[in-house]
Amino acid sequence: MKISIIGTGYVGLVQGAVMADFGAEVICMDVNKERIKDLNEDKIPIFEPGLKEVILKNKKAKRIEFTTDIKYAVEKSQVIFIAVGTPANEDGSADLEYVLQVAENIGKYINEYKVIVDKSTVPVGTGKQVSKIIEKELEKRGEKIEFDIVSNPEFLREGKALGDCQRPDRVVIGTDSVKAREIMKKVYDVLYINETPFLFTNLETAELIKYASNAFLAVKISFINEIALLAEKVGANTQEIARSMGMDGRISPKFLHCGPGYGGSCFPKDTKAIVSIGKKYGEDMYVIQAAIDANEKQKRKVIEKIEDKMQGVKGKTIGVLGLSFKPDTDDMRDAPSIDIIRGLVKLGAKIHAYCPEGMKEAKWRLEDCEKSIIYCDDEYSMANDVDGIVLMTEWNQFRGMDMKKIKDRMRDNFYFDLRNIHTKDKVVREIFKYYPVGQN
Ligand code: NAD
Repeated sequence: MKISIIGTGYVGLVQGAVMADFGAEVICMDVNKERIKDLNEDKIPIFEPGLKEVILKNKKAKRIEFTTDIKYAVEKSQVIFIAVGTPANEDGSADLEYVLQVAENIGKYINEYKVIVDKSTVPVGTGKQVSKIIEKELEKRGEKIEFDIVSNPEFLREGKALGDCQRPDRVVIGTDSVKAREIMKKVYDVLYINETPFLFTNLETAELIKYASNAFLAVKISFINEIALLAEKVGANTQEIARSMGMDGRISPKFLHCGPGYGGSCFPKDTKAIVSIGKKYGEDMYVIQAAIDANEKQKRKVIEKIEDKMQGVKGKTIGVLGLSFKPDTDDMRDAPSIDIIRGLVKLGAKIHAYCPEGMKEAKWRLEDCEKSIIYCDDEYSMANDVDGIVLMTEWNQFRGMDMKKIKDRMRDNFYFDLRNIHTKDKVVREIFKYYPVGQN
């Protein structure tokens, strides 16, 4: 099976690597020349545990190649995955510019029957739009070439992307074409044989499944964050509440961890996009809109709490541990750390920041605050002369820090544990003015 992946980012690169590992011949294409050059020189442009090893292994076996040549990628493959970004427009709707560009290119270079698989998260109706654009390009060429469109949304979690792609909870295949469905079964042969659940739906259902899933998870997080705010006021413990709620099989304990609000490359933009889709079709997405509002409130509440407990942050230095939106990724897109650091800087604080992988990304995303931020080499240098520390992201290495050593380097001893990783640590509670989330 010859497969092309158009867009070699977090999704495309992982998908390409896994498909090659499953035995397909994969062409990964991207317009970003630097990214492709890096990949051709064995430099992996994103941080994702285990990814480098799989790519190098399959490069050696000549099952994966990297190119900027879209014509080559389209002509040489039977199945073409679209995995380009779909960022949010100003009004919250999904920006389809890149997806539609790819569709146009496919229309220009398609040379025989192909299955076009949309892996990017796109609004309902995009599959049909892609189809029309390809047909229009074929008309211009005066040619008739058959193709089918499939929606195959991706559910990987950054930081665990490789495992999620190798062993997904389910594979959703949305298409009205029997022929395309059979080809997709072959594409995912390894998973099909391994009895991974497959869901075959129409295009529209598959397109909406992805938004519905992400929106639901965002709602869960915003829900527990709201309970956490109340729990702090009434003296209850959100960790215990979430544990107990999670024991109810109808609820499940996953995504019931309170914190600084959700972030990342998907939840913020996908929740806004589904609200925008709802508007287009005359349906208010009340629950999802409430989750978005609660998430913004949550970040504001974190800033207010730090300001309140430290009796003002003006002229003070605050250490921030972890910048990426979650551990084991360098992805900083819509990370809560960005809004929270900006908020603290606006109130007059200086920041010492440290993140194992997110600092390169953070530096340009927080360029507007660069005069107020010092990026540190490790967690201990981060602690030098700070008045308080905010643990933003629960990287494993922060769980094993020498907390006395941290404390000794600080000027004052405020510690805001936004991920509740030290709640059971007596030493932390003793030596710091310790503030977990959703409990006192
Ligand atoms: P990304 O920004 O990391 O990668 C997109 C890549 O597409 C970039 O390298 C970019 O240069 C390339 N590109 C843009 N226009 C192109 C074109 N015309 N031709 C070829 N390449 C082009 O994005 P991502 O995080 O991989 O997300 C891709 C899609 O998958 C999005 O729709 C996203 O919502 C969805 N998704 C992402 C995740 C995730 O965790 N990142 C999970 C599931 C689904």
